[in-house]
Amino acid sequence: MKPDIAPQALLDTIDADTMLREVQDWAAINTGTANIEGLDRMAGILADAFSVLPGDVELIDPATVTAISAEGREFEKPHGRHMVLRVRPDAERRFVLTGHMDTVFPVDHPFQEVSWIDDDTINGPGTADMKGGLDVILHALKTFETMESAPRVGYDVMINSDEETGSLASRSLIEELARGKYAALTYEPSALPDGTLAHARGGTGNYSITFTGKSAHAGRNPHDGRNAIVAASDLVLRIKALEADDITVNPAKIEGGSANNVVPDLAILRFNIRPKSTDAMNRFDGQLDAALAAIEADHEVGIHRHGGVTRPPKPVDEKAQRLFDLVKACGAELGQDIGWKPTGGVCDGNNIAATGVPVVDTMGVRGGAIHSPDEFMIVPSLRERAALSALVLAKLSSGDHL
Ligand SMILES: [Zn+2]
Repeated sequence: MKPDIAPQALLDTIDADTMLREVQDWAAINTGTANIEGLDRMAGILADAFSVLPGDVELIDPATVTAISAEGREFEKPHGRHMVLRVRPDAERRFVLTGHMDTVFPVDHPFQEVSWIDDDTINGPGTADMKGGLDVILHALKTFETMESAPRVGYDVMINSDEETGSLASRSLIEELARGKYAALTYEPSALPDGTLAHARGGTGNYSITFTGKSAHAGRNPHDGRNAIVAASDLVLRIKALEADDITVNPAKIEGGSANNVVPDLAILRFNIRPKSTDAMNRFDGQLDAALAAIEADHEVGIHRHGGVTRPPKPVDEKAQRLFDLVKACGAELGQDIGWKPTGGVCDGNNIAATGVPVVDTMGVRGGAIHSPDEFMIVPSLRERAALSALVLAKLSSGDHL
């Protein structure tokens, strides 16, 4: 297929200076997932920036998210708003492009500023993960809109405020926007600084199990008590025994308990699972229910189950593999050598893949050391990756590649 525009000319249309300035400005705004004020400011700036594209920008309220306190009480956790841009919603073929505006660095973290490491590299919070990626989305789409294939297709852009804590307040929005799309692109940074993409991903789940027993005097009438810590410990051993080749289980914390002379009536067990396949994920769910029922009966305690799998495993099926192949071919046209490798990390790409839509989820900048004060972004990758995405979108706009 003949591209709308020669690859080198495509690179030349992208304004690298503006991109760098935007990333520096955006990275200077703290958007730790709990910093609602910073997220709100960022959402407004993104809404303005993306309004240069056709379509309508909307800021969407986060879904209600609850957690379990150390006292065993369920409470609501506040989140920032998400940005959605819908372009040509009536087009027959549509894409979804996603990113996140939050970072792992809270407002009181020492890492807040952007600085230069060398002529090609900046260091700063969220530069790679993923304000650089958000800017790649913006400039890829600006370029795409100048191409003749753009009017034939439509797309949604979703930028959430809570990816770093598992997208609990945006998961249903992501799934709703992904459904029925031809393909999805997510703008996490490349898996390696050389541009290597993340391929298959495992899943993850987080649980808080609350055990309610009955307190009693440890000396006078211990047999009248129902020990919540013992019940929680029983569960620790049972879930650890459920580990297999396709799933790991990490009992992480037991809270609760009481004075040494009291049979404890409260315990909260927190644990994480990493299923490698959908099978493993579903199997564990049933096994956990059975274990909880057995413990409830054996220890005569009340049990409340909170949480679950937030990121289903992301195997790469044939359709998704064809999308990887297409990205690689587009890279080759631009003189970029793009490979891929499986990773233990998770992201919104997991949730998109679970809707059956093919996704490549590391279309963002080249960079590394993310989630640390050494986080860096390779500046020339802004232009490279914007051109890559524009070309991928152009190819996806006609014929059937997937
Ligand atoms: Zn990220």
